Amino acid sequence: MKKKYVICIILSILIIVGGISLFLFLPPNFNLKKGDISIEYGKKYTEPGFEVTKFGKDYSKKVKIKGKVNNKKVGTYKITYEVKIFGITFKKERTIKITDDEKPVITLIGNKNTSVCPNKEYEEEGYEVTDNYDKDLTDKVKITKKENEIIYTVTDSSGNKTTVKRKITKEDKTAPQITLKGNKEISIYLGNTWTDPGFSASDICDGDITSNVSKEGNVNTNKIGTYKITYKVKDKASNEAVIERTVKVINKPTTSSGKGIIYLTFDDGPKEGTTNVILDILKEEGVKATFFVTNNGPDYLIQREYNEGHTVGLHTASHNYSIVYKSVDSYYNDLTSVQNRVKRLTGYTSKIIRFPGGSSNTVSKNYSKGIMTILTKDVVNKGYRYYDWNISSGDAGETTSSSGVYNNVIKNLSKNRSNMILMHDIKPYTRDALRNIIRYGKNNGYTFEKITMSTPMVTHGVNN
Ligand code: ZN
Repeated sequence: MKKKYVICIILSILIIVGGISLFLFLPPNFNLKKGDISIEYGKKYTEPGFEVTKFGKDYSKKVKIKGKVNNKKVGTYKITYEVKIFGITFKKERTIKITDDEKPVITLIGNKNTSVCPNKEYEEEGYEVTDNYDKDLTDKVKITKKENEIIYTVTDSSGNKTTVKRKITKEDKTAPQITLKGNKEISIYLGNTWTDPGFSASDICDGDITSNVSKEGNVNTNKIGTYKITYKVKDKASNEAVIERTVKVINKPTTSSGKGIIYLTFDDGPKEGTTNVILDILKEEGVKATFFVTNNGPDYLIQREYNEGHTVGLHTASHNYSIVYKSVDSYYNDLTSVQNRVKRLTGYTSKIIRFPGGSSNTVSKNYSKGIMTILTKDVVNKGYRYYDWNISSGDAGETTSSSGVYNNVIKNLSKNRSNMILMHDIKPYTRDALRNIIRYGKNNGYTFEKITMSTPMVTHGVNN
């Protein structure tokens, strides 16, 4: 009986101790909001919140949080929630994954669709790779070459893969190019031999294809006229280039024809006060003359010259030797400027010129050695006609009186040639000598003509 009683007491104690132990050691209920979390690299981690309860009592405020998340580094992080209840510590973990799900970006240098010559391999133009996490991955690119494409692949450290393709078309779409040696427009004298100055042809894919050029057209140097020579070439892809050259067969300049003709030529104008009076005299005398004009003076006088049937020739825009004879280009710039003025005022494109200082001038040596040797040929090749003189009126400095001008002219007139007289319509003493010069010419059987494109050139010897 006593023994039974003892067992009963021991059992009761065990049940009480067990109950207390169960109460103490039973873990609380951790409610971690959102549980384990995955966050894209770079985004901020904020505590989603939690609740810790045991037997209905809230222990949330006693919780200590341990652990750190580095959102700048891909990886798995653990946050530990710790709570002490009746001296016993309970823990719960939350896993936070920082991930990189963004693919790298491959940027191709050059075109995505590109073409190369059929006989050539594509030469890599390059590429760049950027990645939100790994930054520069350019060195990690793998290149696979196929018949018609190049495949670029790259994978970042998180396994995100990017593929970009470049399409390669083998073709030649570019026409070859023919380059003419010498001018596109060439003038040669009647009876001279025509020799083609030559040409070359090249193609991006085929290289030098000069030997494939075919020529069409003939030049009959025994007949005055304009002839066309056509140069043609095709590359292997049948792209064609065509270029044309114009050859003009013109009369040989002579100084022996036009006997007894007087060409009155006036340089450096127009000028108010002289040119207008000269035009009046020419009209009254029924004589045509030639004016080699500049960019100076009033527009209306150039229009009068043209409208009253005279020849408007080109002298120089600037009449500044250091500009005019600085270079061949500079010469043509100056010439074109005065040519454009005449064209604007009259609608007429004058190709009749007089070099400042004449073609025999030596002043041009100061600015460009040999320029007159080049220009005297080149202007003719370009279709111009230039006229020097064989009688100088001396009105550029030698004399300043109308009787001086008159005498210089008439004493040099000859019936055995054409008389090309240099005068300046900006000089009052020339204006005042003009009527007497015309009267003398008429009384002595001379005829007056203006220069035209068929007037034989009167040229000096070249000294530079
Ligand atoms: Zn001049």
